[in-house]
Amino acid sequence: MKYNFGAGPCILPQEVFKQASQAVLNFNDTGLSILEISHRTPEFEAVVDESVRLVKELLGVPEGYSVVFLQGGASLQFSMVPMNLLNSDQAAAYLDTGVWANKAVKEAKLFGNVNVVASSKAENYTYIPKDYEVPADAAYFHVTSNNTIYGTELHKFPETAVPLVCDMSSDIFSRPVNVADFGLIYAGAQKNIGPAGVTVVIVKDELLGKVDRKLPSMLDYQVQIEGGSMYNTPPVFSIYVSMLNLRWLKSKGGIAEIDKENAAKARALYEEIDRNPLFKGTCKVEDRSRMNICFVMENPEFEKPFLKFTEDLDIIGLKGHRSVGGFRASMYNALPITSVHRLIEAMQDFAEKNK
Ligand code: PLP
Repeated sequence: MKYNFGAGPCILPQEVFKQASQAVLNFNDTGLSILEISHRTPEFEAVVDESVRLVKELLGVPEGYSVVFLQGGASLQFSMVPMNLLNSDQAAAYLDTGVWANKAVKEAKLFGNVNVVASSKAENYTYIPKDYEVPADAAYFHVTSNNTIYGTELHKFPETAVPLVCDMSSDIFSRPVNVADFGLIYAGAQKNIGPAGVTVVIVKDELLGKVDRKLPSMLDYQVQIEGGSMYNTPPVFSIYVSMLNLRWLKSKGGIAEIDKENAAKARALYEEIDRNPLFKGTCKVEDRSRMNICFVMENPEFEKPFLKFTEDLDIIGLKGHRSVGGFRASMYNALPITSVHRLIEAMQDFAEKNK
């Protein structure tokens, strides 16, 4: 068994992988693979219906919001959001907290004006800016809840008069959020939901249908909602496995339970990073992410040997993103706390051996 701290794609519990592999051979005793049944059958429609229901139930999505499964990853949402919500003579506000936020800004500029209200770029995105104002006439305010590469997370969402749009790709379903506070939430599936290839969008219906431009059907939220996530052939396997994973989350006790586990996992690792003289965290303490924990070594010469040391113990995926260096322990919902304990032991053993 490997202790996988990789950032993805698609870190899911073993039991979900097993159920998924069974469905590739024989889906629900139909004698057919999940990959070959028609998406227009009642069997697959039931999968989409249950997936939507689970998203709504687990996140407590209120009336007046639609949940839709799309393709193109979170990256296509960088364009679809402004296409659908921003007129060319309007401005949208963006908070620049990392590479992904930056990419969202770049796409939005193609459709209207963009007002970057604050950025932590000058300090390599090691914190979340808090001192800014969102203009009251902005079409919306876009934030990234968890900055996967840098290891920062918004622990408190901004209160704004304008609709809040959030890229929750790397921390959705990891903690409670009040969906009613948001105009639109999107997330590429491949961290806490399911395999790459599907993107979940939760949108407040009243925001749609207001832009002047003509929209291509595939990129129009209203068309996709009316098509019940099946305007065209949906990514059947990704949706099916997402459903299995959301069932797993529900059976564990839902978000309230996973929130506690994620808190315990992150607390344990940060405590070791702060205690062990060989290591140090890279981000401002109050903005530290619970999903992606970034750290370096006080003496950079130890970094390669430490990585080798952990790999020999079957601890994998720890190498930090090239823009931060050091290490990144990605600790999505499916990572068991036993893996975190294993990593902490490795840090302690390495320190002992290198006194
Ligand atoms: N937003 C965030 C926060 C991410 O972490 C990622 C990918 O890791 C993306 C967007 C891009 O997602 P995708 O590859 O699904 O386009």
